[in-house]
Amino acid sequence: MKNITMLVASALIITGCSSNTDFNEDKQNTEEEEVTEEEAAEPVAGDENESREKEEDTEEQAVEAPQLNEKGELTKPESEQVLVNREYRLPEGYEPDDLTVPDIPFPFEEDHPKKQIREPAVKPLEELFDEASEEGLQLYAISGYRSYDRQEAIFAANAAEDGEEEANQYSAKPGQSEHQSGLAMDVSSPSADLALTDEFGETPEGQWLKDNAHRFGFIIRYPEDKTDITGFQYEPWHLRYVGKEAAETMHEKDQTLEEYYGVEE
Ligand SMILES: [Zn+2]
Repeated sequence: MKNITMLVASALIITGCSSNTDFNEDKQNTEEEEVTEEEAAEPVAGDENESREKEEDTEEQAVEAPQLNEKGELTKPESEQVLVNREYRLPEGYEPDDLTVPDIPFPFEEDHPKKQIREPAVKPLEELFDEASEEGLQLYAISGYRSYDRQEAIFAANAAEDGEEEANQYSAKPGQSEHQSGLAMDVSSPSADLALTDEFGETPEGQWLKDNAHRFGFIIRYPEDKTDITGFQYEPWHLRYVGKEAAETMHEKDQTLEEYYGVEE
């Protein structure tokens, strides 16, 4: 509803500009140029203006890459756009102080730290689940926040099972998991047997997330065609909150978080 209101509002503004130009100003005068510049900032302006807008965005963007301290740990782990991967690690003792259990369906009843996500992501995630449900989709939250210590135990178990090298392909070492940031939530659906597998990406739920998660400020963090950039296998189930603005930008430009910061190898 909000989007429609905004569209109507911007259409009115443009109509207003054009009317003023048509009735009051000679088309050759300098006013015309000013109006065109204003319209260039409008998403619904013509093709030429749209490409100009994109160029401006690229110049403006130059998002500053996250900083690491002398231990190679992120200096701002609490940033909503924090980049976490094998190179950009969360500090060992970092635990978000605003972890909250969102009001969304989980396939288990008991209390567990993994039900939590950070406060800024709570409402957006609830809205995403609500809208999916209205579309007749059945999403379930499987696993969110995970402490450094728990990640350490999980990686150790995986390494004991498959060897460290293989475990490193699918399992993050402590400090390298977005789940420690409290900004990630793994989700699945009955259509994928509530499992975290590639097949989830083929389900109506997985497809819907791919096309819509950005509208709520989330990205599919590990896309199928970007495994060489993210360093992680395809994970259609792993949602990461980055905020609406960053998510829209990354969706529009088909970027991973690494590309967003320009730090991909
Ligand atoms: Zn995950």
